[in-house]
Amino acid sequence: MTALFIACADGRVALALAALQDKEGETDADRLLVPGGPLVFTRPGTERRIALDWVRVQLDLHGMRTIYLVSHQDCSAYEQSLGGLGFDQQELLARDLRRVKALLENTFTDAEVRCFVIPWRENGEEPSFGEAEPVE
Ligand SMILES: [Zn+2]
Repeated sequence: MTALFIACADGRVALALAALQDKEGETDADRLLVPGGPLVFTRPGTERRIALDWVRVQLDLHGMRTIYLVSHQDCSAYEQSLGGLGFDQQELLARDLRRVKALLENTFTDAEVRCFVIPWRENGEEPSFGEAEPVE
């Protein structure tokens, strides 16, 4: 079965996203890559409506039932949208993911929505993105 991954367009997380798809056995999944990923669904009005239409089209095209929402730390789109991410970015991203999951599950009642955050690791020799972690 195929799935739909909704994630940030930021190319720096491409490898971590591919690794998550691999791990989940969803290498042939469709991807909806927009700045901030799930962030677009937190916006009111037209933006959200258009984004929901994109998801509807992709679900209908391939009969998908699983949607992966993938946010990442150190996200420029989030920073720009909120005027900074601060120290509680993990909490903020998790809160938005839960909200967007509820929105999508209410809109597409057949769909199962799973949430992940790709962490930014400052430790180690070179700071880099780590393995995606599930958000309950
Ligand atoms: Zn981003």
